[in-house]
Amino acid sequence: MNLHKLIFTNNACYNAGRRITPKGIMVHSTGANNPWLKRYVGPDDGLLGKNQYNNHWNQSMDREVCVHAFIGKLADGTVATYQTLPWDYRGWHCAGSGNDTHISFEICEDYLTDAAYLDKVYNEAVYLCVYLCELYGLTEQDIICHCEGHDLGIASNHGDVLHWWPKHGKNMDTFRAAVKDKLGGSAPDTPVEPEQPGGKIKAGDLVTITGTKYYGGQTIPAWVRKQKWYVYEVSGDRAVINRDESGRYAIMSPIKVSALSVVSAKPAENYRIHTVAHGDTLWAIAKKYLGNGSRYKEIVSLYGLKSNVIYSGMKLKIPNK
Ligand SMILES: [Zn+2]
Repeated sequence: MNLHKLIFTNNACYNAGRRITPKGIMVHSTGANNPWLKRYVGPDDGLLGKNQYNNHWNQSMDREVCVHAFIGKLADGTVATYQTLPWDYRGWHCAGSGNDTHISFEICEDYLTDAAYLDKVYNEAVYLCVYLCELYGLTEQDIICHCEGHDLGIASNHGDVLHWWPKHGKNMDTFRAAVKDKLGGSAPDTPVEPEQPGGKIKAGDLVTITGTKYYGGQTIPAWVRKQKWYVYEVSGDRAVINRDESGRYAIMSPIKVSALSVVSAKPAENYRIHTVAHGDTLWAIAKKYLGNGSRYKEIVSLYGLKSNVIYSGMKLKIPNK
C-alpha cells in the first residue's frame, strides 16, 4: 500500500469533529471519469499535482461530503491512497446511518473500461482494508460497498462499486475474499527471539519483525512480516513502523519494541524537526533555523520533497547548521 496522509482540515466535516467507533468499512467510487487524486485531494503536496480548478474537497464546500481516504493516481500516474480524515472521525459519505459506523473511502473512477487501472486500485483497496481491519479489529465480513449499504438500509441509493467492478470479473465477494486471504497471516515457524530491552530501537532504524502481533493484539499478516520496515517513532514500549525498505508500502502500524529487531541503526540525529504551520514558506524556515533563506534546498533534499510545495502539518527535517 502506498499510503499518504493529507487531512481535510478545511472541510466542515473535519471541523464538526464528531467521532465514531468504527464497526465496518464502506467502499465507494466517485462516479466521475477522473482518476486523478488531485481532483479531490489538495492542496498539492508535490506528489498529487496541481488542481487547476482548485475544486478539491479540502475546503468549505456547497455540499456535505467527506470521506476518510481516496485511492487514485498521483501526478506521475502511480496509484496511491490518501488518508483525508482521522479514521475515527464521522464521515459524510453515505447519507445514512452508515456514517455513524463505517470508515469510508472513495476510489477515483476512470472511464470504467481499463482493466489494468481497476486492478491497481482494487489491490490498493485490499491493502487499505487489511490495514484498517487490523487497526480496528474488524474482519472482511465488516466490509461493504455503498450499494450493499443501501440494501442494508444504512446508505442512500447508489450503485457504487457494483456498476464498475463486475465489468472486470470482480465484485464485493472477491474483494472480501482477497482481504480475508491477507488477514489470515499465520504465525511464523521460527521461535520468537528473546525480548530486547526497550529503548534500543529509535526512529529511523531499519527493523525486521520478530513477533507475530501488533501492539493492539491483532495478528501481523505474513506479507508484513516478510518486509523490513523503517521505524517512524518510538515511545516507551511502543514503536510505529511505516515505510518498508523498498518504499513500496506505507502502513503506520504500532508494534511492541520487543517484537522488532534492528537490521541497521540510524546514526544519531543530525537534524531537528519543524512542523509546518499555515503561512510558513521554505525560505522563511531556512532563514529562521539556518540563518539563510537560500539554504531551503537542504531542507528540500533532507525531506526528499519533489517540489518546493509544503503544507501544514508536514514534519520537515532541519539540518543542525
Ligand atoms: Zn458512494
